[in-house]
Amino acid sequence: MGMADDGGLLLPEEIPDVSGFLDEWRSLSYVELAKKVMRCYTDLHEGTLSLLVEQSYSTFRHPEITPVAQVGDLNILELFHGPTLAFKDVALQFLGNLFEHLLSGSGDRLNILAATSGDTGSAAIHGVRGKDRISIFVMHPHNRTSRIQELQMTTVLDENVHNIAIQGTFDDCQAIMKTIFRDLEFKAAHSLGTVNSINWARIVAQVVYYFYSAFRVMERTGASKVRFSVPTGNFGDIFAGYLAYRMGLPIGKLILATNENDILARFFDTGEYSLSDVRATISPSMDIQVASNFERYLYYLIGEDPGRLSEMMSEFVENGRLEIDQFSGKDVAGIFAAGSGDTAGTLDTIRRLLAEHEYLVDPHTAVGVQVGSRHLDPAEPMICLATAHPAKFSKAILDATGGDLAHHPIIDGLADLPSRCNVLPGSVDEVRKYLGSLAIG
Ligand SMILES: *Cc1c(COP(=O)(O)O)cnc(C)c1O
Repeated sequence: MGMADDGGLLLPEEIPDVSGFLDEWRSLSYVELAKKVMRCYTDLHEGTLSLLVEQSYSTFRHPEITPVAQVGDLNILELFHGPTLAFKDVALQFLGNLFEHLLSGSGDRLNILAATSGDTGSAAIHGVRGKDRISIFVMHPHNRTSRIQELQMTTVLDENVHNIAIQGTFDDCQAIMKTIFRDLEFKAAHSLGTVNSINWARIVAQVVYYFYSAFRVMERTGASKVRFSVPTGNFGDIFAGYLAYRMGLPIGKLILATNENDILARFFDTGEYSLSDVRATISPSMDIQVASNFERYLYYLIGEDPGRLSEMMSEFVENGRLEIDQFSGKDVAGIFAAGSGDTAGTLDTIRRLLAEHEYLVDPHTAVGVQVGSRHLDPAEPMICLATAHPAKFSKAILDATGGDLAHHPIIDGLADLPSRCNVLPGSVDEVRKYLGSLAIG
């Protein structure tokens, strides 16, 4: 379930306190730890959860799933060893298996409709490819994603995967999606669902690597607390970090890093959350103005008052701005620090890490490193989340270093694979017709 029935987001009634278990969890493998963390938020049968977790992370290419690399003073948490080489795999591999399990229990079918400007689409496709009872329809703007992003989607030939290239922009794709979802009759008739970043199961899956990496770094350094720097778009990843903190993981600071689209960084500076235009940057997965998970954080910030939150969100929809002059939960705001990184600084960070440590980061990761480096504290080692493999953004690497240095066999092999995609005009009716003819039911 994405949204709650009243249009709000879902949260647990209580955040579990696991501080008494930290010693027991410290030495667990990623998969065993994931079972413990997710167990806090689900009533799935023990054996079922185990199987789903094992199945979800068997597709990762690194035995540690999310290993931590030591790079100078920094610890880089590599979240890009999944099938599409981006951190979204950590959540979407799990979500695909979870959906399949739930559907096999109920006998239902699910048709997933998604709009993507790049990364989410391919991670979602790889999460559900080949699954019974699920079909996925992903719209991307025709010829407006990177060639690599397009191929990562269109070279998946499973029968249940339908790529739609819309003759229009990403905004057109999103508008089509919204209109179709507002048609409740059509939605029900075709069991339409989403996998967007407000899905609670995605957040829960992301909590795990905060625990896993903090344990590794505390063990190596002897420190009793760590900091995290998180390149942020929709506030999903960093919200998972906030949950880990509230569950009792000793986190000293959560550093929220944005690119030039800095609505979130400005909020933490001024208390004002106000929209401006989206600017295209070299870290496109963070080119976002309305951060869909921010509402979850606001709930805690204003002292867990759902009525007031609902008023605030309506005000934001109406005026494009929100001001919070009084943080009722100061301790909530206190764990965060925020900042933005610009393109020159991001390119410079890529260049510097390569020159000083022979370590290549992608531009999203570089934004996090850039902002995180302003918040170093010797007593609290810094863990920077690496959200994509550099080979996915080889153009930025070339611009930064002057060399064609970013490669991965998966990416390099894409151009030779057969692909399948349907080009449709940017019209709701055409997409509706296409969906209607191919949806499983
Ligand atoms: C989605 C994405 C982000 C932003 O994550 P949020 O959960 O939206 O904050 C950062 N980097 C990469 C590579 C991404 O794909």
